[in-house]
Amino acid sequence: MINKIFRMTVSIAIMIAVALVIRHFSTSGNSNGQREGYTISLRTIESADPNQPQLQSGFGGSRLVMGTFANITAVAEDDETIKASIEAAFDKLVEIDEMMSDYKADSELLVVNRHAFAGPVEVSDELFEVLKASVYYSGKTQGAFDITVGPVVELWRRTAKDGKKPGEEELAEARARVGYEKLILDEENKTVHFAVEGMKLDLGAIAKGYAIDRAIEEMKKAGAAGGLVDVGGDICCFGVSPKFNNIWRVGLEDPSGESSYLLVLTLSDAAIATSGDYRRFVVVGDKRYSHIIDPATTASAIGLTSVTVIAATAIDADALATSVSVMGRVKGLGLIESIDNTEAIVIPADEKLEFVKTSGADAYIRK
Ligand code: ADP
Ligand code: MG
Repeated sequence: MINKIFRMTVSIAIMIAVALVIRHFSTSGNSNGQREGYTISLRTIESADPNQPQLQSGFGGSRLVMGTFANITAVAEDDETIKASIEAAFDKLVEIDEMMSDYKADSELLVVNRHAFAGPVEVSDELFEVLKASVYYSGKTQGAFDITVGPVVELWRRTAKDGKKPGEEELAEARARVGYEKLILDEENKTVHFAVEGMKLDLGAIAKGYAIDRAIEEMKKAGAAGGLVDVGGDICCFGVSPKFNNIWRVGLEDPSGESSYLLVLTLSDAAIATSGDYRRFVVVGDKRYSHIIDPATTASAIGLTSVTVIAATAIDADALATSVSVMGRVKGLGLIESIDNTEAIVIPADEKLEFVKTSGADAYIRK
C-alpha cells in the first residue's frame, strides 16, 4: 500500500514536471492546418527589410520522444521546407533515442552495457562521440559528471519502486563499478571496453543535449532559416525566430509550480538545459531525493533545486547542468564562470526562489 503511494507520488510528480516543462514561448502560430497526421501551425513573418524573403514559421506539435515531450518550431520560406525540417529533426531525435536509450533493450547503449566487459565493443560514430564528450566532462568536473554512475542510479531507481533507500553495503558495492577511468575508449577502432565487470553506462544527463544539437543540424540541412528544438525543456535555437528577429524567448519554469515562469530568457543561436531535484526525484518518508547522483559519495545531489545552463550547444548545456547540480553552488558556478560564453542560473534549495547567477547571465534575462 505504502509502496503504491510512493509510486503514485512519483508518477504524479513526473506528470506535473512534464506539464511544466513543455511550455515555452517560441511558438506563436495563428492558423492551424492538419497535414499528414500532424498539426502544423503556420504564420507569415513580416520582415522589416523588403529585400529579405518572406518567411513563415511552423510548429510541429508535441511528440513523445526520449521519455518526454519534444516541440519543434521551424522558420523557412515555404511550408514544404518547414515540414521537411521539422520531420528531419524529429526523425533524428528518435534515431538518437534508439541508440542511447536506457529503456530500449536493443539500444546500442544496452548492447555495450551487456558486452563491453567481455571485450571491446565497436560502436557507431554517434555513440562514440557522446562517450568521448562524457569523458571530457568527467575530467572537467573532477568526476562530478560521470556516465559510469549507472550501477548507483539503478539502486536509486529501485527506491522509486519500493520506497526504500539503498543500503550502505550495496551502494559501496555499486560504487566499485563506477569511475570514468574504468571506461576504455579506443578512438581508432571506435570501441568501448569496461575495465571492471558490472559497469553500466547511463547517458541520461547528456544524450538529450546531443540529440537536440543533431536535430538542429538536420533542420539547417533541410533549409530552415531558423528553428527551435525543445526536448523536455532542454532547448537549442538558431537563426530567424517567429518574432521576426534572431531572438527566441524561452520561459524558465517555476520549480514550485506556483507561477508558470520565473523569468524569460532571450536566446540567439544558443542552448539551455535545466537539471534539478524538482523535476525527477524519489520520495522516502518526507524526504525528496534527486535522480542526480554524486559519483564520489553515491548520495543523491543536494543543495540546488534548479540549475539552468546557457551554452552554445545543447550537449554542453545538458552535461554542465547536471555537473553543477552535483558540484553545488560555489564549485559549480566557479566552473561555469571559467567557461567562455556559458552562463548559469541556479536556485539554491535553502532559499525561496532566489536566483544565483554567473556574471554574464543577466545579458540573457529579459528585463
Ligand atoms: P533530466 O533527466 O531531468 O534532463 P539531467 O540532464 O540532469 O536531468 O540527467 C539526469 C540523469 O543523468 C539521471 O536520471 C541519471 O540517469 C544520470 N545521472 C545521474 N547522476 C549523474 C552524474 N553525476 N553524471 C552523469 N549522469 C548522471
Ligand atoms: Mg543534463
